[in-house]
Amino acid sequence: MPELPEVEIIKNNLSDNLLENTFLSVEIYSEKLRYKIPYNLAESIKNVKVLKVDRIAKYIFVYLNNNKILIIHLGMTGNFLVNHINDEITPIKHTHIKFIMSNSKVIRYIDIRRFGFIKIYDLKEKEFDIFKNKLGVDAISNNFNSKNLINHIKNKKINIKSALLDQKIVGGIGNIYASEALFKAGISPLDCSKDVAKNIKKINNLIKAIKFILRDAIKVGGSTIKNHKNMNGESGYFQYKFNVYNREDLKCNNIKCESSIKKIRQSGRSTFYCENCQEKENG
Ligand SMILES: [Zn+2]
Repeated sequence: MPELPEVEIIKNNLSDNLLENTFLSVEIYSEKLRYKIPYNLAESIKNVKVLKVDRIAKYIFVYLNNNKILIIHLGMTGNFLVNHINDEITPIKHTHIKFIMSNSKVIRYIDIRRFGFIKIYDLKEKEFDIFKNKLGVDAISNNFNSKNLINHIKNKKINIKSALLDQKIVGGIGNIYASEALFKAGISPLDCSKDVAKNIKKINNLIKAIKFILRDAIKVGGSTIKNHKNMNGESGYFQYKFNVYNREDLKCNNIKCESSIKKIRQSGRSTFYCENCQEKENG
């Protein structure tokens, strides 16, 4: 599943290909994604120019010069494939939409499991405001800071791992990076959110760890995704080098530590951590 770093890279890649260009035509092959593709999508963006491509959490925002905006979510397996219009390519399975741009680029939206979606809003529409207000602060933005995080979790009795996955608290952290950030910050995933909120050192370490890991993953992934043209739509996502994720029973990567990585279930999701490096508060 694409997490914030992958979405950021895909957003940058889309921006390179869309910015200041116009949609010449849109071909829709199947309407059924997580939500039905809006019936007016093709006519709403035909001959319309892209002004800005942005990202908040795992949502990509494409601002258009007709006061409309496309909102794209990649779901579990969504991705884009970019080609020149003259490139000869064999038909690609699971292509749902094809955008043909004024710069002679063809951009395909490919999604095997169809949990992604594309919506179009009028910028003045109330629903767009409602949608935006539901999003938490983006995990790598400056708005995500200690004051903000403490405010959101100081009364929460849920464990800190589950709090990090709550997109209203912070947007863009998925299951993989939640485990990784807690390991880097030396915080037990079992700690109660309101206890972590009282410990400013832990809060600062956690924010630093989240931003470091997400930015590092963006850097690492950057070079991989540039090979977009070679991508076959089956496996576009890169693998960041994980310290705990998917490392159950393997030795902890901290050279001073003799423990091995544990896997537990929290709120129905797998959590990976080191009991020794991430000691639980109050024993
Ligand atoms: Zn350890």
